[in-house]
Amino acid sequence: AKATGGQLVAYGCELDERAEAAERLGADLRHSLDDGDFRVFYQPIVELRGGRIAAVEALVRWDHPVRGPVSPAAFIPVAEDNGLIVELGEWVMRTACRQFATWCHELGDRAPEYVSVNVSARQLNEPGFPDVVIGILAETGVAPNALLVEVTETALFAGQTAIEAVETLHRSGIGIALDDFGTGHSSLGLLRTVPVDVLKVDKSFVDEITTAGRRAVIVDALIHVSNGLGLRAVAEGVETAEQAAYLRDLGYPYAQGYHFGRPVPEPSFEPYVEPAVRL
Ligand code: C2E
Ligand code: MG
Ligand code: MG
Ligand code: MG
Repeated sequence: AKATGGQLVAYGCELDERAEAAERLGADLRHSLDDGDFRVFYQPIVELRGGRIAAVEALVRWDHPVRGPVSPAAFIPVAEDNGLIVELGEWVMRTACRQFATWCHELGDRAPEYVSVNVSARQLNEPGFPDVVIGILAETGVAPNALLVEVTETALFAGQTAIEAVETLHRSGIGIALDDFGTGHSSLGLLRTVPVDVLKVDKSFVDEITTAGRRAVIVDALIHVSNGLGLRAVAEGVETAEQAAYLRDLGYPYAQGYHFGRPVPEPSFEPYVEPAVRL
């Protein structure tokens, strides 16, 4: 009984420490929002045939004043828990739309077709969220069909409010992507009930396509689902030329990953000419 008691105490302390660390990080987030320590990086999404950069995904970056760069995987969940994701997310959306408008102005028809922005469950459940997004488009002059909002299956399972927000955005002409597809509360039914334009097939399925047979089956099945439903498929986390060629041969129209380019502050929109992905 003693040992069990000791373990329980140790476990309890560990939880406390973790909660404290999250609270500290949350307070730092608040300061950094006021001090402007966030930036938005952009990662290319390319057409697998021809290699043109069709779009960019906006990914937030935090330059912590003491700790330096902190990964979104570490701070987005904290910002979701304490609600700051609402303010941070709006800032990301506005920054990305402004940047996109600048590219359209500077690059003309060499500009990407759309900018993709991640949105969390907390944001979708915020009353008036669609109006905020529509307001940002009006303010920046970005066309609704040049914005793609990335949501996860899990966010849509958060409830009816989230689904209604997605429906409102879609009715306004804004594109909807299901992010990390296959890793959440995967339900193919969701694809019929929620208006989705783009299916982003998670990196975990892409990782093993050229080595393990099992995952290749899923990547293969998902391109058929995507095509059958009239969606555009994007393969996430493509790291090698071999994976890119394999996905292209399966019929994937788009891909994203370090093989094509990492998230950067100022991507180059020169047409991509890697021979391995050229037709
Ligand atoms: P995500 O939306 O699935 O974004 C893709 C993530 O995979 C990015 O990580 C990107 O840098 C990384 N990635 C892309 N290609 C490769 C690859 O070839 N190999 C590997 N190993 N990684 C690759 P990042 O920027 O660290 O973001 C992580 C997650 O944080 C995002 O996953 C998204 O869920 C969330 N996130 C990022 N920015 C925002 C934001 O502004 N708002 C919200 N709500 N969430 C965000
Ligand atoms: Mg995403
Ligand atoms: Mg993703
Ligand atoms: Mg992912």
